[in-house]
Amino acid sequence: MTLWFNAGSKKAVISEVHRLGAERSFTRQTRFSCLVKAPCCSACLSAVLHRLRASQATVCLSAAPTEPITTSSSEKFMNHPAPANSRYKPTCYEHAANCYTHAFLIVPAIVGSALLHRLSDDRWEKITAWIYGMGLCALFIVSTVFHIVSWKKSHLRTMEHCFHMCDRMMIYVFIAASYAPWLNLRELGPLASHMRWFIWLMAAGGTVYVFLYHEKYKIVELFFYLAMGFSPALVVTSMSNTEGLEEVAWGGLIYCLGVVFFKSDGVIPFAHAIWHVFVATAAAVHYYAIWKYLYRSPADIIRHL
Ligand SMILES: [Zn+2]
Repeated sequence: MTLWFNAGSKKAVISEVHRLGAERSFTRQTRFSCLVKAPCCSACLSAVLHRLRASQATVCLSAAPTEPITTSSSEKFMNHPAPANSRYKPTCYEHAANCYTHAFLIVPAIVGSALLHRLSDDRWEKITAWIYGMGLCALFIVSTVFHIVSWKKSHLRTMEHCFHMCDRMMIYVFIAASYAPWLNLRELGPLASHMRWFIWLMAAGGTVYVFLYHEKYKIVELFFYLAMGFSPALVVTSMSNTEGLEEVAWGGLIYCLGVVFFKSDGVIPFAHAIWHVFVATAAAVHYYAIWKYLYRSPADIIRHL
């Protein structure tokens, strides 16, 4: 299918379509028209039409008047990298992978959180299981909702922007929640124990930063994620009981390797979905360590029944 856009300003149409990221290539036809070839899917197509109708441009559908449309498999599985200070637009296949890679983990996260709560011996363990479980479940739920909105409702730009901010804020909250069981349930020195509340202060700082400077300084944002991920580790290693810290370090390493893919949109096909897989794997390693070293084993509960 070929779309002809006849609008008052060619520049306006091109910037609209660029903004929506539905274009594959442009061919200049007349002074006020441009040809958009092969929108990647019907959702992208309807998003383009919606925006153009809203801007009162004239939109005509016609058969392709020039060369046949070809879409290579690399175009299907990856778009061009985003320009500075704007977001990468995934292809439909990438959108689907982004949604499914975290959607499938929502139920396991809820079950895992409930299990930790069940294995708690005292109130403090219960509260910690709640904090960690909420962080774990919220990460996958918010991420899935954001990616669905970004895929299916990209024309609702304000809503998509809000969910994108929530998705980014959740990373800070999740880092704090992942450390909470180790900081709350292990003996810490007098200075190190301050990290119990300081990590939440950092999460709050990160959340405010996203609110104020979302998508503005991506390198600074990445630096904050890594700083928040590493600084509590310094305290954790000063614990007298170091059981399970090896697993925590392995999980941290997996997150760090995943950052390579987090920053490779438009360079590696399905980069963001691969990042999701790294997040899921690292979260699973951390969950295993928390379950094994900080909570009672399920076998103990059965024995005491
Ligand atoms: Zn994501």
